Amino acid sequence: MNPLLLVEDLAVEFKTRLGKFYVPDGVTFSVFEGECVGLVGESGSGKSTIARILCGIHKPTTGSTQFMGTPLKGWGHREIQMVFQDPDSSLDPRKTVLFSIEEGLRIHRIGNKEERQKLLIETLKAVGLTEDVLSKYPHQLSGGQKQRVAIARCLVLKPKLLILDEPTSALDVSVQAQILNLLMELKREFSLTYILITHDLKIVYHLSDYTMVMYLGQIMEMGQTERIIQEPMHPYTKALVTAIPTVGTDSLKDFSLKGEIPSPLNPPKGCPFKTRCDFAFEKCNERPPLIDFRGRKVRCHLYTEV
Ligand code: SF4
Repeated sequence: MNPLLLVEDLAVEFKTRLGKFYVPDGVTFSVFEGECVGLVGESGSGKSTIARILCGIHKPTTGSTQFMGTPLKGWGHREIQMVFQDPDSSLDPRKTVLFSIEEGLRIHRIGNKEERQKLLIETLKAVGLTEDVLSKYPHQLSGGQKQRVAIARCLVLKPKLLILDEPTSALDVSVQAQILNLLMELKREFSLTYILITHDLKIVYHLSDYTMVMYLGQIMEMGQTERIIQEPMHPYTKALVTAIPTVGTDSLKDFSLKGEIPSPLNPPKGCPFKTRCDFAFEKCNERPPLIDFRGRKVRCHLYTEV
């Protein structure tokens, strides 16, 4: 089966006054139709840059992206839509909900006025909103309602791939579970494929089939979520799993994450996780390759390809 999305050797060069760096730095992965793939890592790991490349907001320096077998070029691909972290910054405060949701339909020249109206009502219903929100402005809505509008704005375009960039982290805890449940219902109902970007492995555990753990622009471990969480291999993944209260088992209790992620301008030589890893040894001064190990991929000198 061909993947819906194929990303190969993706890298972005950032230039600053102090020098240049690459984040992401040579990332390769694929996403199959109907999957939910979680991209997890601390801020600065490169996961949001990958999302922006897929939406055409950012240009890669090297590497390629293919969607449904065709190279992705530029922005505005109707079948790839993105739900941003903060609905307050993704919705125009001066525009009504009607304008915000209908805008994409107009840009992509979908339907006449009547057909668009029908689509709007159906989409609002799907995200749990009623018609009365159409005349409202973002400041008249709750945080949860705003994120539902942001989801509706994507959904109305009938995308195949939804990129969810920290979709609940700007919301009250009480609303987060409702939005996550809504996203899972929509995935089933509309046969959607998700890339879920988050710093929270707990969310990935509940929603994703497949997980990629990123650190300083590189993939540290990737494989089936269940196995990654139940049996993490990379020391960084172990530290992230320890932070999930209901999963961080006794055998992992010593793997808490220490220190801060280094600056990408001055990354450690060799393994990027070296400065925070309790297992670092001499060989870690060399950059570890991403190897196949027992049905998953891991980048750590503690493991040898089998
Ligand atoms: Fe730790 Fe070395 Fe593995 Fe890096 S390669 S995670 S420093 S043991």
